[in-house]
Amino acid sequence: MPDHAIPLWEIPSLPVAGGGKRFPVRRIYCVGRNYAEHAREMGHDPDREPPFFFTKAPDAIFTGKELPYPVETADVHPECEMIVALAKGGKNIPVAQALDCVFGYGVGFDVTRRDMQSVAKDLRRPWSLSKDFDDAAPCSELHPASKVGHVSRGTLRFTVNGEVRQESGLDKMIWSVPETISFLSGLITLLPGDVIMTGTPAGVSAVVKGDTLVGHVDGLTDLTLKIV
Ligand code: MN
Repeated sequence: MPDHAIPLWEIPSLPVAGGGKRFPVRRIYCVGRNYAEHAREMGHDPDREPPFFFTKAPDAIFTGKELPYPVETADVHPECEMIVALAKGGKNIPVAQALDCVFGYGVGFDVTRRDMQSVAKDLRRPWSLSKDFDDAAPCSELHPASKVGHVSRGTLRFTVNGEVRQESGLDKMIWSVPETISFLSGLITLLPGDVIMTGTPAGVSAVVKGDTLVGHVDGLTDLTLKIV
């Protein structure tokens, strides 16, 4: 071990369902516009655009029950997404081998400061900090693929105070999980501990303090949070 100049911090991690282990999070990659109806609601043509990615720091992981309303925004959109955690990585991973890299699946919110993002887009500036900030990646516990299999069908649903805001079949993803892993591994070398947020369906909208959010994917543990 090198002699570090400041104390090492704890590696951000996610609970694994059953057994008490933690999954250490190395990096977080998010897919943009991976559902056609969401691409349309954001003003884009889903048919002509290849996948694109942005990142969140692993420290954005949040596993508490009460999510503080983010600073420097008045328009917070928690995008409900299925997340995929990788046990193995690689470069140029073929689609047919991509699922061999998957450790497991969970539910996450890609929390977005939409007003800050809109300003950045208008000014042609990077919108990193509209997506990557304190507690911007709340996630549920992970379910290992070895226990629940690979998740490619079923329903994703996001409710606020019991009212459905987002609902879609996972089969509506433009780029499937194996295609996403394969494509991303052509851009960067994927590594064990990497987490992918797989994109959100239509219906993104603002939440306010006091709201109770529930992110659901069939077969996985709900992600339930209160905004405080
Ligand atoms: Mn998203």
